[in-house]
Amino acid sequence: MNLQQPISFEFFPTKTAEGAEKLALVRDKLSVLNPLYYSVTYGAGGSTQDGTINTVASIKKAGHSAAPHLSCIGSTRESIKSILDLFINQGVDRIVALRGDLPSGHRDVGEFRYANELVEFIRAETGDHFHIEVAAYPEVHPQAKNAQTDLDNFIRKMNAGANGAITQYFFNVDSYLYFIDSCVKAGMDKPVIPGIMPITNYSRLAGFSDMCGAEIPRWLAKRLEGYGDDIDSIKALGLEVISKLCENLLAEGAPGLHFYTLNQSKTTLDICQNIGISPE
Ligand code: FAD
Repeated sequence: MNLQQPISFEFFPTKTAEGAEKLALVRDKLSVLNPLYYSVTYGAGGSTQDGTINTVASIKKAGHSAAPHLSCIGSTRESIKSILDLFINQGVDRIVALRGDLPSGHRDVGEFRYANELVEFIRAETGDHFHIEVAAYPEVHPQAKNAQTDLDNFIRKMNAGANGAITQYFFNVDSYLYFIDSCVKAGMDKPVIPGIMPITNYSRLAGFSDMCGAEIPRWLAKRLEGYGDDIDSIKALGLEVISKLCENLLAEGAPGLHFYTLNQSKTTLDICQNIGISPE
């Protein structure tokens, strides 16, 4: 069976030539699943700018569609305009537009405060050139005052000219379904693609989840924690839980799946195989 809904894969930029070669191999393995695009993260304040540009170049050179992320916090209009021009010259026509987080110790927020301002700027400067995706938080962004203001802010960002959104990862299907329901009630029915985080390492996942406000259900946390250093058991339960999550999301009408691959192919390939996404 081949899935009707598109899938996409996220990478982070590598730091060395050796890392870039390894990532190209990962990409080749994933490419059999015919993703709509590969996205590449972008460090806040442009900290990974060269890495993002080089990774995008490698994806384009291999004949695939690339969607660089672009975060605006700490940036000027001029610097954002020049990176947009660079992406256009690279033949890029999709982008994931974000605010980002100021690295600790940095105080200068720059000329953009929130992602809705970046979306407006991209539209004003480049018209309809880019397909723009933004970030969504079914379990509420960690800095938001409350769920309603976070939703209002999300809708404002979508209405600024985004074509769709990708969610922060989550493990609770209801959080996604209630979020979509609230968006539809607010008159926003553009696609919101679930972001899928494979589970391969519990302590890393727990630390990251604390930071980004993604809840690991108690039953799952307790089981994963109980495995200690038994990586095989963590991976096996992770594979089962995330495959089921994907199946449930698709059954509930999710318009696609975006995998946070962590620059690895195996777990994402295993999940896709479990849910019936087969190589072209
Ligand atoms: P915003 O949409 O601006 O929201 C940030 C906070 O401000 C929220 O609490 C929101 O409720 C509030 N807010 C929004 N607009 C307004 C407004 N107009 N007035 C008042 N309050 C407002 N980070 C990176 O650095 N690089 C990446 O490549 C990257 N990729 C990501 C990809 C995805 C799919 C996701 C979900 C996140 C990604 N992040 C990335 C993390 C992201 O940058 C952080 O979560 C950041 O804290 C918020 O970015 P945002 O674009 O969602 O911000």
